[in-house]
Amino acid sequence: MLIAAFPAGPLAANCYVAAPGSGADCVVVDPGQDALPGLTALLAEHGLTPAAVLLTHGHFDHVWSAAEVGDAHGVPVHIHPADRPLLTDPAKGVDPALAARLADLLGGPPAEPARVAEVGDGDVLSFAGLEFTVAHAPGHTPGSVVYALPGGGDPDVLFTGDLLFAGSVGRTDFPGGDPAALLDSVDRVCLSRPDATHVLPGHGPRTTVGRERAANPFLRDTGRT
Ligand SMILES: [Zn+2]
Ligand SMILES: [Zn+2]
Repeated sequence: MLIAAFPAGPLAANCYVAAPGSGADCVVVDPGQDALPGLTALLAEHGLTPAAVLLTHGHFDHVWSAAEVGDAHGVPVHIHPADRPLLTDPAKGVDPALAARLADLLGGPPAEPARVAEVGDGDVLSFAGLEFTVAHAPGHTPGSVVYALPGGGDPDVLFTGDLLFAGSVGRTDFPGGDPAALLDSVDRVCLSRPDATHVLPGHGPRTTVGRERAANPFLRDTGRT
């Protein structure tokens, strides 16, 4: 399995591609702000063709380029219905100061992708020869999800978006944020898995469930580990 990533935009949101190998179809996770140049280079480098776009949540730094990527390749863009409104109204997902700056940056409401597919807890998405299981994981946003990918002999992989990071968890001070729900989601969706499970977060470096269980201060202090 091939998983490659690069940080995109001023907030360095990780954009991932996952594929069975080079020269194959792939899935693009979170093509956000300014992701197109990096994504185009990554697709060319590995000879990959997008078969679907998966969004972990609706914040602009993760979804900004989703319509462009989805429409250019004629593939569906997946998002939980609770975050779908953020696709066309990104200011709704952030604080007023950031919302004003977003309006300047965008210069008008963004268009929805031509093909939007809503995902829910337990859905299994089969694309590019890979099977992603959706876990609804609210807290950072109401429509946050984690995509779980079986490792096929290797440890499983979780695309955690802004739920769980290496040494941290997602902020909950934006509209729709809920600290208690976030910790419940981390418990249910992440800490319930084996220590070796790979965690590929929406920002920052990769980690594992075991490392976060042992050392993540945001979980330790709440008695969650
Ligand atoms: Zn976010
Ligand atoms: Zn983010």
